[in-house]
Amino acid sequence: MSKETYEFQAETKQLLDLMIHSIYTNREIFLRELISNASDAIDKIHFEALTNKDLLEGDNNYEIFLVPDETTHTLSISDNGIGMTRDELIDNIGTIAKSGTKAFLQKMMKAKENNSSVSGKELIGQFGVGFYSAFMVAEKITVITRKAGQKQAYKWESAGDGSYTIEECNKDKRGTTITLSLLPDFYGDKAEENFVDTYKLESLVKKYSDYVRYPIKMNFVIEETPKDKDGKEIKDAPKTKRDEIRTLNSMQPLWTRNKSEIKPEEYNEFYKNLFHDWEEPMEILHNKAEGTIEYTSLLFFPAKAPFNLYHTDYQPGLQLYSRHVFIMDNCKDLLPEYLRFVKGLVDSPDFSLNISRELLQQSRELKIIGRNLENSILKTLDKMLKNKREKYEKFWAQYGKSLKIGIYNNMYNGTDTINKLKDLLLFATSDADKGLSSLKEYVERMPENQKKIYYASGKDRKAIDDLPQMELLRDKNVEVLYLLDNVDEFAIEALHEYDNKQFHSISRGDLDLDDVESQQTKKETEDITKKNEDLIKDIKESLGDKVTDVKISNRLKSSAVCLVADEQGPSFAMEQVFADANNPMFKAKRILEINPHHQLFKRLQTVHNQGKTSQEFKDYCDLLFTQALLIEGILPENPSSIANKIAALMAK
Ligand code: ADP
Ligand code: MG
Repeated sequence: MSKETYEFQAETKQLLDLMIHSIYTNREIFLRELISNASDAIDKIHFEALTNKDLLEGDNNYEIFLVPDETTHTLSISDNGIGMTRDELIDNIGTIAKSGTKAFLQKMMKAKENNSSVSGKELIGQFGVGFYSAFMVAEKITVITRKAGQKQAYKWESAGDGSYTIEECNKDKRGTTITLSLLPDFYGDKAEENFVDTYKLESLVKKYSDYVRYPIKMNFVIEETPKDKDGKEIKDAPKTKRDEIRTLNSMQPLWTRNKSEIKPEEYNEFYKNLFHDWEEPMEILHNKAEGTIEYTSLLFFPAKAPFNLYHTDYQPGLQLYSRHVFIMDNCKDLLPEYLRFVKGLVDSPDFSLNISRELLQQSRELKIIGRNLENSILKTLDKMLKNKREKYEKFWAQYGKSLKIGIYNNMYNGTDTINKLKDLLLFATSDADKGLSSLKEYVERMPENQKKIYYASGKDRKAIDDLPQMELLRDKNVEVLYLLDNVDEFAIEALHEYDNKQFHSISRGDLDLDDVESQQTKKETEDITKKNEDLIKDIKESLGDKVTDVKISNRLKSSAVCLVADEQGPSFAMEQVFADANNPMFKAKRILEINPHHQLFKRLQTVHNQGKTSQEFKDYCDLLFTQALLIEGILPENPSSIANKIAALMAK
């Protein structure tokens, strides 16, 4: 077949354009990206060959070769990995199939607009747009590849200018060779950074790819002065040159080494390398277990939650190794869902090399190891909360949501999990000075006569501070948990109680305050309710199915009305979450509460006396309800009719 030209997919083009004209400060990472692709490709052939030895064609000396060439200004990276077919070249390299890419592009565009030098390294690390990073240093890239088990090889070539070509070619060994024709800035003596310089390349491999599991080799030309038979250098003799192939990376898996001998920088580099992160992890857990089940685990909490942590395209799970040989990536069965943010690996001789995912799921060893890992992570968190509060709060800001979702997801059958997690929760409270509080801390501060744990939901502190219901609680010095994250209320609902104290929303049901004064108010409210039975009934009738009930309030001070949700069914905040998830059926049952001590109440009584069918009374009811809605941040269904009614009232 002859040479064919293809256009890059539109998004790929955009990305390439950004790569080439980008704001990158750190172009050297292209090497790490290409080496990691080569290593991934070797992982793949290694794994396939476990069940199909023929694929190896007798070559199981896995290796990656770097060939810098000063005369042609090229750098090649070769591997004897799985290789690619023609279709794979198109799909994997001609297209950006990854869902994170859009987000990446947007971030890049923004960074570019702001002319900020958010370094490309940060973004590349985050989104892993590996292969294309090579266009930062190359004016042309040539990929020659032959898929294991196939005869035909292909040559892919592009100058990063919007199109690429593919043609058939020959290649003896399976695998892939990527040749970069370097841009003038990156070779020669005057180069900004010289990527054909063997020593430069060696240092880059040490820096970024030291733990790659396969040898990364390069030829060094050694110049020597000849020696005489006593081993002394011969004066004035012309220097000789010889080739020496060296392996650049140490390959010794970090986790097999003794904990006490590993420096923090080593852990950090290892993590960044293996998990393509640009930031150091916030926590590292390295454990060796001996006994019935033997394993080593090395776990990390990334410093920042990935942007897609809660999306379906996020791949949770740990890497599995058996006697230091990689068997599987993203093994989800080791850790519970709520720990999906944990990265790391487990190496155990008890895993068999060619075990299938299905069999693995049922493996007893895996379950036991999983349980141990979960416990050790929870123990770490518990200690962090007790002894390193600041660090824990940083953790909480990134992953608190995960733990809360964990509580919610275990509502029906995971009392165990809930019990483990509930003491790790943190919430803001009405007492801003206290910062974030655990439930334990909140309960410890509760006065004797407070029986319930009060909470309120809102989009931010101010929204809750401004709730009419808060006024009374503030006066009475009752501390209220502030639920500011939309999953909070779901977690609280799932918990039900803490330390035998029920949770109680300040916007739902009866407040049940237990002081003498409150008891008095309660009595008084009952009296007022009795006296105004007709009025209440008629307001309810006038509002129809907009409300489930109308009540005289004992929780209001300066506001005329408020809306509370029935104790049965979702709250307003939950209603909002459902609506956002396109589930508008779950509506909170609205109860309108009226403040009998507000001046408006007298006026209402007067208007009511004119007759419940009068237009004025109906308008009053409507406006009262709308006010209450607005306070909760809910828009009325008929804003213009409401505006007209207000205008009419103002004009009176
Ligand atoms: P990622 O490595 O995150 O998948 P890259 O842009 O680095 O993204 O690579 C894109 C894809 O191209 C890889 O997933 C792989 O399928 C293919 N690829 C890249 N380099 C090689 C290689 N050396 N051998 C085989 N396939 C490769
Ligand atoms: Mg890659």
